[in-house]
Amino acid sequence: MSIFTKIITGEIPSYKVAENEDFIAFLDINPNAKGHTLVVPKKEENKIFDLSKEAYSNLMDFSYRVAKALEKAVPCKRIGMSVIGLEVPHVHVHLVPTNVMSDMQFTHKVNLSSEEFVALAEQISKEFE
Ligand code: 5GP
Repeated sequence: MSIFTKIITGEIPSYKVAENEDFIAFLDINPNAKGHTLVVPKKEENKIFDLSKEAYSNLMDFSYRVAKALEKAVPCKRIGMSVIGLEVPHVHVHLVPTNVMSDMQFTHKVNLSSEEFVALAEQISKEFE
């Protein structure tokens, strides 16, 4: 069972941004930039291109909605998107509010307090449609 499945089942906590029957979005615990969000299918699958075309499209649709909310909640030049999965083998889309190229480099990290995480998750979820 992946760490993200444990988040989905509530076994471990997360700063949740959005959720429906099939997907969940929560803040990355070690963010590249303020508002770095992960969009995760609830059905655990390792690699994104092993998803069915339909599941892939649905993931992109949900990510689009989360990105729109992020853009409204976190001032930035644009939302960067990336899929890697080398650390957590459970499909997830990284959405990163980006101002400079280094915001999309996964060696570039920012420290946030739990209060900042809580406030960010609340601001983003308020904008989610
Ligand atoms: P990737 O698998 O795409 O290389 O990266 C996995 C991402 O998941 C990393 O950005 C890492 O900070 C994040 N991550 C790992 N464990 C947890 C966790 O327990 N909670 C949250 N919210 N994010 C996590």
